[in-house]
Amino acid sequence: MPDNQSRVAIVTGAARGIGAAAARRLAADGMAVAVLDLDADASKGTVDAIVSAGGRAIAVGADVSQADQVAGAVETVVAELGPPAVLVNNAGILRDNLLFKMSDDDWDMVMGVHLRGSFLMSRAAQKHMVDQHYGRIVNLSSSSALGNRGQANYSAAKAGLQGFTKTLAIELGPFGITANAVAPGFIATDMTAATAARVKMSFEDFMAAAAANIPVRRVGQPEDVANVISFLVSEGAGFVSGQVIYVAGGPLC
Ligand code: NAP
Repeated sequence: MPDNQSRVAIVTGAARGIGAAAARRLAADGMAVAVLDLDADASKGTVDAIVSAGGRAIAVGADVSQADQVAGAVETVVAELGPPAVLVNNAGILRDNLLFKMSDDDWDMVMGVHLRGSFLMSRAAQKHMVDQHYGRIVNLSSSSALGNRGQANYSAAKAGLQGFTKTLAIELGPFGITANAVAPGFIATDMTAATAARVKMSFEDFMAAAAANIPVRRVGQPEDVANVISFLVSEGAGFVSGQVIYVAGGPLC
């Protein structure tokens, strides 16, 4: 059985934040990584960091919500690195608003990137995994799946991803493929920095306020999530499938 050295991974939304940390970690684990983001140039920093650490990576530009771009991106990965065995559906956006102010576009864009994007990427990647009789899919859910004021769109998408994950686990399990979800709590990235700006707080004050309510008394870092993704896509995690792992510094209910 091939080890990580010969596995190919695709991480979406990997130009920055959690995706970049996951791409760096999977490369350090020995995988060749396709660093996919909206703009291939934006992925250059992640690719350079991987290559200068001795790893193998390429930048791929695609909007995960567009079927033709997804098909082209997966073809590029197959041609340049080989068939993908690992997929991390991480690309994400926020369009927060209270329900009465939420526009149709706010709803559709969030569904398009998180749900449709994960569906399109998984459908395109799974046939290569089935051919290899091996695959690992990790979807990024969120603590917001449990409900969060101002995030009717995002919480619905992140809860939807949990059902999507469990169904992939059932359908793809017979082909040696596992599917799991990671549901982060507060992670310090540009996404949470943008939320701080939206509520007119400094990022430092925003993080301190969040940390006060987290049992481990700190906010998460992208590497906290990357560590869990690394486990879920490892060979040794082959009997873990259809699970949602909250990475939130404490229990959530
Ligand atoms: P981030 O810093 O905003 O990074 C998200 C990345 O996704 C960006 O590089 C973005 O590209 C890319 N992206 C957006 N739309 C895309 C599309 N249609 N196609 C391809 N790439 C696209 O976010 P993050 O905080 O690292 O979050 C990563 C994932 O974790 C998201 O799914 C998010 O919902 C989830 N999550 C985050 C937190 C948190 O506290 N940060 C908590 C729970 C869950 P551009 O820069 O070009 O927009």
